[in-house]
Amino acid sequence: MHLIELYKSVQGESSFAGLPCIFVRFAGCNLRCAWCDSEYTFTGGRPFSEDEVVAQIEALAPCRLIEFTGGEPMLQAKELIPLMERLLAEGYTLMIETSGERPLAEVPKAVHKIVDVKCPGAGAAAGSFRRENLDALTKNDEVKFVITSREDYDFAREFIGRHEVNRRAGGVLLSPAFRKSPSPERTAENMALDPRDLVEWMLADGLDARLSLQIHKFIWEPMKKGV
Ligand code: SF4
Repeated sequence: MHLIELYKSVQGESSFAGLPCIFVRFAGCNLRCAWCDSEYTFTGGRPFSEDEVVAQIEALAPCRLIEFTGGEPMLQAKELIPLMERLLAEGYTLMIETSGERPLAEVPKAVHKIVDVKCPGAGAAAGSFRRENLDALTKNDEVKFVITSREDYDFAREFIGRHEVNRRAGGVLLSPAFRKSPSPERTAENMALDPRDLVEWMLADGLDARLSLQIHKFIWEPMKKGV
């Protein structure tokens, strides 16, 4: 498989936020989200064998939570799925961050899927979510919407209601987008949308969703890699 990096940090978003986590970052993505903060994954990296990935994970012990991210890890499903099955058998807790544009039915049900449905503010990537992936969701999974504006919020609210996302998945995450090139300061000023606005909209609507701030962008400089 072709990876950009493998490292240990704290999980930054989702209901696992704040837990120590090993990140396996896959190279390459077939989407181009307007607010992408991982463009460095589009090229570069190097091939890893499955044994090498497992050995590097073991070297980062005692962490038992692993997240597959990218880029888009499901572009390398042929290598990723057997790796998932091996790590599950060894007792690890696994997560995957995916856009939901690739089929997810083959992902083992024990893996926690964080599926990022692209809102209009994602630009060229908007509308890329594969509808049949709704049927692959389980209560282990969370559906995420990155919000840049009121239009994005309205899209997310409508999608959540129309597709009964809370019945299918374990939760919904609303994540205010960061600016494309944020300043080094670790403040909410770097956000494309003031999180207070998002919270007010959620409370006014009584939306069954979790506000998800990318905590790694407050702990470290927003564009820092490998954290
Ligand atoms: S799916 Fe993720 S990695 Fe790909 S362009 Fe969008 S934000 Fe960037």
